[in-house]
Amino acid sequence: MAKDNLTAVLYGVEDLRLEQRPIPEISDNEVLLEMDCVGICGSDVHYLVHGRIGDFVVNKPMIIGHEAAGVVVKCGKNVKNLVVGDRVAIEPGVPCRLCQFCKIGKYNLCPDMVFCATPPYDGNLTKYYRHAADFCFKLPPHVTMEEGALLEPLSVGVHACRRADVGLGSEVLILGAGPIGLVTLLVAQSMGASNIVITDLSQNRLDVAKSLGAMHTVLISKDKTEEQTVKEIQGLMPNSPDKTIDCCGAESTTRLAILSTRSGGCVVIVGMGGNESKLPLINACAREVDIRGVFRYCNDYSTALALVASGKVDAKRLVTHHFDITETAKAFETSRYGHGGAIKVMIHCQPRDKNNNKPF
Ligand SMILES: [Zn+2]
Ligand SMILES: [Zn+2]
Repeated sequence: MAKDNLTAVLYGVEDLRLEQRPIPEISDNEVLLEMDCVGICGSDVHYLVHGRIGDFVVNKPMIIGHEAAGVVVKCGKNVKNLVVGDRVAIEPGVPCRLCQFCKIGKYNLCPDMVFCATPPYDGNLTKYYRHAADFCFKLPPHVTMEEGALLEPLSVGVHACRRADVGLGSEVLILGAGPIGLVTLLVAQSMGASNIVITDLSQNRLDVAKSLGAMHTVLISKDKTEEQTVKEIQGLMPNSPDKTIDCCGAESTTRLAILSTRSGGCVVIVGMGGNESKLPLINACAREVDIRGVFRYCNDYSTALALVASGKVDAKRLVTHHFDITETAKAFETSRYGHGGAIKVMIHCQPRDKNNNKPF
């Protein structure tokens, strides 16, 4: 096997390095993967810029990256679901499987979750990476490796729409047209939403949302009062949205989410901003607007894969930029500053399309 295991390691704030690491040894329930591609997520950029997210602090070197796909090159002796050569999407969080949360199926709440590139655990922007075999999802031949990597953000969208009970005829408001807002838009469409309004501070992002099928867009601006923005949103949906998904999590967007939602409707908060927010809680209570949290995803990967494999969701439209792993610094810069209208930036650990049966 090749000795090259070039790896992107975050040492601390503004200190991302490429270095050689030993090829990992696998345990009996794991597979060794030759990594194909890894998407850059807002959280990866956040760790680079701030060195922490909430209580998760980078205080020793950590391999970055968690939106990934690879090819199985070795199987542990207990592995039955995969064989060498399988192309897989990697669900990056592996729970303990033993605690009360795991046992009731809400494994995203497991306190012992090992999640890629969440300190202290390593991620997978590397050439060789080991992972629990049962958290790898075999891709059908017509699904590309990049689409496999995109199942990660897509699963966030699936989980958010499930938490909001989006279904046939739902009238959905999405706050934020970044990558998570956009995947939520794609999933809400596939689940049968009849009207979708999406908001953002950037007209460019709203244009992308429109091209992906958002029926209406609302530009958030400091020149409008909160009341005016709520009126504008509700004017686009005569009965007001019944499902609102806040993909920003800023105080201002969560306020808009509550105030815009129809009585009896539901607000789901995906984005996480500051620790505390001033919210119109009594308004929500008096109108029976449910407020629900979301933490990552749980049992959503296979659904996300089905949406892509069936063609119901065209996730590849979110990828705007491609870089080789040797260009990791440039890739992060592009994602961080949104250069060239960047939405999803993909880093390739192998030559592009090496493992695809059709070009991405
Ligand atoms: Zn992510
Ligand atoms: Zn657990």
